Amino acid sequence: MLFRECAEVFEKLESISKRLEMTSILADFFRKVPSNEIQPLIYMIQGILSPPFLSVELGLGERFAISAIASSAGYPIKEVEKNFAKSGDLGKTAESLLEKKKQLSLSSRKLDLIYLYNSLVKIAKTSGAGSQELKIKLLTELLNNSTPLESRFIIRFVIGELRLGVGDPTILDALSVLKAGDKSLREELDRAYNICADLGLVAKIFMESSEQIKHFKVKPFNPLIPALAERLSNSEEIINKIGKCAVENKFDGLRLQCHKKGELVEIYSRKLEKMTHMFPDLVKEIKSLKQDEIIFEGEALAFNKKQDRYFSFQETIRRRRKHGIEESSKEFPLNLFVFDIFYIDGRDLTKESYTQRRKYLEQIFPTTLLKLSENKIVSTAEEMEILFQNAIKENLEGIMAKDLNSPYTAGKRKFAWIKLKKSYGKSVDTIDAVIVGYYLGKGSRAKFKFGGVLTAIHNPDSGKFETIANIGSGFTEEEMNNFEKILNKIKSKKPSKNLIFKTEPDFWVKPKYVVEIAFDEITQSPTHTCGMENDKGYALRFPRIVKLREDRSENEVTTTKEIIDMYWLQFKNKK
Ligand code: ATP
Repeated sequence: MLFRECAEVFEKLESISKRLEMTSILADFFRKVPSNEIQPLIYMIQGILSPPFLSVELGLGERFAISAIASSAGYPIKEVEKNFAKSGDLGKTAESLLEKKKQLSLSSRKLDLIYLYNSLVKIAKTSGAGSQELKIKLLTELLNNSTPLESRFIIRFVIGELRLGVGDPTILDALSVLKAGDKSLREELDRAYNICADLGLVAKIFMESSEQIKHFKVKPFNPLIPALAERLSNSEEIINKIGKCAVENKFDGLRLQCHKKGELVEIYSRKLEKMTHMFPDLVKEIKSLKQDEIIFEGEALAFNKKQDRYFSFQETIRRRRKHGIEESSKEFPLNLFVFDIFYIDGRDLTKESYTQRRKYLEQIFPTTLLKLSENKIVSTAEEMEILFQNAIKENLEGIMAKDLNSPYTAGKRKFAWIKLKKSYGKSVDTIDAVIVGYYLGKGSRAKFKFGGVLTAIHNPDSGKFETIANIGSGFTEEEMNNFEKILNKIKSKKPSKNLIFKTEPDFWVKPKYVVEIAFDEITQSPTHTCGMENDKGYALRFPRIVKLREDRSENEVTTTKEIIDMYWLQFKNKK
């Protein structure tokens, strides 16, 4: 398939915002795509070259893309920069400059989708001395062979700004519509995607045979998208919702998913990036398990022998960075509190109940470093409250209540797990939001160039970010300097194309850094666009940053729906 056809569809997609319309455009398009080309096409629509756990990344910043545009279009770099300063969109800059050049030359050959994809993978894999020059040369060649419209999307893709506004749910809908004419196959597709985290692979298998998707199974080295917990505000509500249930401590550590097949072990982060090299101690222990193939997950915490306590997530990370991996493994050994299991020797366990999965867990763990996340079965709110208060006394985040009959709900926030956390000020919980801009300091803060951040949550239905809070307080001097440093590197001239906003910071930044925010209350506000209807959105009262969440990507922040649920939860709490 020619990339020209894809670029034309991309242009159509970015001009519309209605999900139904996008779904039908995509379904019609997928129908025309040869089945061996669907996998790379899906990755490209997602703006990636591979699923996150294979981490094939381009590593090309704006500067390199500007050099390639300059040499392909025959303009000095300064000229490209000037055009970019005006357009604020490097893709559009490439398009307009190449447009002028193409009127003068007739040389370009037709760019094939697979050729383009393979060339981008080649760029990503180029490393070592002189690799940056080679990357620019390869990108220049691609631009030489592309039409102006194609170059718009190639450039946006390489700088990580493709953002067609098409979320994974829309792609899954389109696949279902393609074969069934409606969304009836969506559930099977969803499950397959959630247990392998590879939408390109799911689409490929589905195009070959939708029957295969029905029987899709968990497999070592294809991490599952983690299950998420709903929140309720007290033990009574939890018991009313799920009845007799298991209660586990909620540890504030690093969520890790461990895969073993024979001698091979991989450990994935919550974002599904490979972290194996970070945990040599855990790898050794996992290798020694007697199961040939196994997949399980847990929360890792470093143990402070001197103080006889576990470090929190932030301390665990800091120690590892400061003391090096080998050193800190000795001084602050990691324990993994294993809380779920998905697969043993060819058997997919994700459809089995919590009670059943727990039986397997108890047979295998604890080992020396792989501890079992202890649980207690409770039937009343009073019993649960005692466990919750104990957890708080032990300085833990709270508890997780788990439905005894529920399967593992990969990729979903469901009432299979319910978290009950200690309150922060008056709020029931903290939220995670991505920084989309920052302010300059005023008054006594003017000496730091940093005065606060504008943050946004994510609306998966529209694929957009919506603002929720300006945060100007709660920073130490050191934190202000740190934020200034990291945000300055990702400054951009215009807001992200996917951001809906009503308030403007001094500087926009690419949505990248996620922060956990405590607050007093969720209120309605005309300034922030979270869940906005009739000019009223949702905003946080007295927001304070708790910490930077390095285990989160920008699309994994709190969602609009969660904010609205939390807004209503407050009224219940006040009663
Ligand atoms: P939070 O911001 O409240 O930590 P989260 O947004 O990271 O939550 P949630 O789905 O809301 O994710 O809460 C589940 C998280 O709690 C998991 O990601 C996991 O890292 C952590 N956790 C700690 N202890 C447990 C446990 N016993 N069972 C399951 N998850 C646990």
